[in-house]
Amino acid sequence: MKTNQIYDYIERLGNLLRTDSRRDVAEYGLQPIHLEVLHYLSLCNRYSDTPMGVTDYLGQTKGTVSQTLNVLEKKGLLNKHPDSRDKRMTHLKVSSAGKELLKTSIPSPLFVNACEQLTEQSQTQAVKVLQELLQAIQHSNSMKSFGICHTCRYNHKKEDNTYFCELTQESLSNEDIQLICREHINIS
Ligand code: SF4
Repeated sequence: MKTNQIYDYIERLGNLLRTDSRRDVAEYGLQPIHLEVLHYLSLCNRYSDTPMGVTDYLGQTKGTVSQTLNVLEKKGLLNKHPDSRDKRMTHLKVSSAGKELLKTSIPSPLFVNACEQLTEQSQTQAVKVLQELLQAIQHSNSMKSFGICHTCRYNHKKEDNTYFCELTQESLSNEDIQLICREHINIS
């Protein structure tokens, strides 16, 4: 078993990326968690862009998430919008300034440069192995998968080539099906 080696590498990578991210966002008065929240919100769909969605995804407490969201809003990096049908629900949208910040920070130049040193084959292998490991951890912990919509059991492709969510009973656009969702359930 290579469990300890795998753990050591992933922990080391995590630490290096966090240190790099801390350095990157310090000039904006931010911490890595602020960037993580913005990144999540830039990838998730309309069922997941809520404070609860952020809490579930990051595994942080509601208090921490609430403080983080307030900082991001004050800095003009995200906007809060009430849901059109349920006024108690708030959707969190990354602002143009937030998108600009993400463009330069994620993935960081350090990470891009390191990946470019890997062959195409090694990159494909890394994606496969990391995906399997993530799914194994999520499965054994009964965690939400936050998978991409088009790989979800509830995603139904209709005869006219449009998509429909059988859970929410709403139509999905081509853009929707590329986003991650807190209600996602793997097909298999
Ligand atoms: S099909 Fe699945 S992933 Fe897509 S919106 Fe519905 S529940 Fe979410």
